[in-house]
Amino acid sequence: MSDFIVHKGRRAAGTFARHYGADVTDLHHEHGKRTAIMLADGRTGAGTCLGCDSAPCMEKDDSELTLFGALDAFPGDPSCDVCPTRAIYWDNENAAACVETGDCIGCGLCVSRCPYGAIRLGDGLTALVETADPDGLVIAGPTKREHPQVKRSGKIATLNAPAAANLPRTIAALDDARTTLLVRNLLNEVGLNARTRRRGDTNMRIDAVGFSRRERPFVAEIETGVGVLESPRGLLEDVAVLHSRYGYAVDGIDPVSIILSFPNVRSEYYQVIRDIEKVLGLRCRTITVGALVTLLWNCTKLDGFDGNTFTVGAGTIDLADCLGLDDAKLAEPYSGAFRPAK
Ligand code: SF4
Ligand code: SF4
Repeated sequence: MSDFIVHKGRRAAGTFARHYGADVTDLHHEHGKRTAIMLADGRTGAGTCLGCDSAPCMEKDDSELTLFGALDAFPGDPSCDVCPTRAIYWDNENAAACVETGDCIGCGLCVSRCPYGAIRLGDGLTALVETADPDGLVIAGPTKREHPQVKRSGKIATLNAPAAANLPRTIAALDDARTTLLVRNLLNEVGLNARTRRRGDTNMRIDAVGFSRRERPFVAEIETGVGVLESPRGLLEDVAVLHSRYGYAVDGIDPVSIILSFPNVRSEYYQVIRDIEKVLGLRCRTITVGALVTLLWNCTKLDGFDGNTFTVGAGTIDLADCLGLDDAKLAEPYSGAFRPAK
């Protein structure tokens, strides 16, 4: 059971231990600095933890796991946890969220989900929940409120953050359940309506399904180990299942491999993808978990997997451009990579 479930049992829905007295409208992340917030009444300053119930930094709302249309029947992982390692928990003494830094992999999910600017990657490595209020924005005492829709900008972390260099190793060390939770939550946070397979479900082979922001369905194979070479073949099976069991047209489905790092440029992986496109007309895409983290850190949405390149909403990352294997760029359709800092 997650720490948050315990927390939820203690406090009424919608309550805050303290509040700003006005909704947050804008939030700006800057690597190495506290998150700047702007309030609806014009006050500005550094964000701090308000000790909110139904804390979005820790738990997703059930409604966030809903899929559009026929895909809602896909047997997905019901976990509402945000943190893939359960490093974030409720600190009852201080009525605030807290992070066990030894368990934090610095993915930034909790940072991007707090609508009050309270969390940052403190040293570019692990999440830190701020509880000080240097700008005097906080009004003591509980209140009841809805979480606001905030406009986010800036960078949670830059690619030279230590977490970036560590992620390939820390993600590779996660077990299957935590990896799929991480991937699902990253897909959701970069704007995709996605669900990952329920753990232990031997009847469902597809790792993840969902819709792009343009409402095209996709199927995904998540491979962070040695199975990368098999993922294009798995995608073919996934497309067949999505077509036959859920009724989506084959040419309307985007198959995507979500991997940790790209296989060697001379690997059979790329030839298999070319063969699939040539014979079946299906363009299998590949994106790294690091690319998803990069999008999240840059407060950038991924529109989808269709088109000639991955299309990125705010235009701050050209995924086709940022792909590199030993400094060599690969042409489409293999875009979407992230090179950790050396
Ligand atoms: S860190 Fe943010 S979302 Fe989490 S309890 Fe504090 S204010 Fe709420
Ligand atoms: S940065 Fe990621 S791993 Fe660390 S506490 Fe937040 S969600 Fe968990």
